[in-house]
Amino acid sequence: MIRFLCAAAAVFSFALPARAEFRYGDEQLQGYVESNLLSVFYHELGHALVDIMELPIFGQEEDAADVLSVFLIDAFWEEESAVQIAYDSAFGFQAEADAYDPVFWGVHGPDQQRYYNLVCIFYGANPDERDDVAEELGLPEERADYCDFEYEQAAGSWGTVLDRITTESGGNSMRMDRVERDTDGARLTADLIIEEVAALNREFRLPARLTISIEACDEANAWYDPELREIVMCTEFADDIAANAPW
Ligand SMILES: [Zn+2]
Repeated sequence: MIRFLCAAAAVFSFALPARAEFRYGDEQLQGYVESNLLSVFYHELGHALVDIMELPIFGQEEDAADVLSVFLIDAFWEEESAVQIAYDSAFGFQAEADAYDPVFWGVHGPDQQRYYNLVCIFYGANPDERDDVAEELGLPEERADYCDFEYEQAAGSWGTVLDRITTESGGNSMRMDRVERDTDGARLTADLIIEEVAALNREFRLPARLTISIEACDEANAWYDPELREIVMCTEFADDIAANAPW
């Protein structure tokens, strides 16, 4: 995957760290897991920013966090990688929708809805070049017609928030804390998130310290803890994403 740092004066790209240790069997599956971990991490970052920057939320916070996730996928990655991450993340929601009954009383929207929200905003960010993405991922025209507007709303909300914390000199407000590397999934998560945190620190300086931990939690999950101002990425998540991959 190739990163595109939109806010930096100098645009550059680099490859992700070597993936030799991780053995899910094939590169496609590994990329799928990485994409989904990344979009989950961006989602949790959304919760962190809502808390740390005391952002007003009009509607469900979970939806707002999903919007930040797709906004960052579009903003931070070069086209080919962004498209791949968007496909993988959409398939991740689809896999959840296939595996579980929808929960209408939960704080998250139903997975199928999250799938279409992601596809819509990603398509809306660049409709001229992503027609085929919208078509291939089954976005109905009735929704597609409004997606450029939905993206503009995302840019007006999250884009404005990110502008406030963008710094040319970089920062160190996001710090890794506990990092476990005792399984293949843990190592993959650690390599990916450490790299991502470094990239985010080059772009952003938060008004308060945010810590990130990667550890076993006996469940496939990730969350932001406002009391500790910490994002926890469970090492079990990678294995769960791989196990539910749609192929
Ligand atoms: Zn959430």
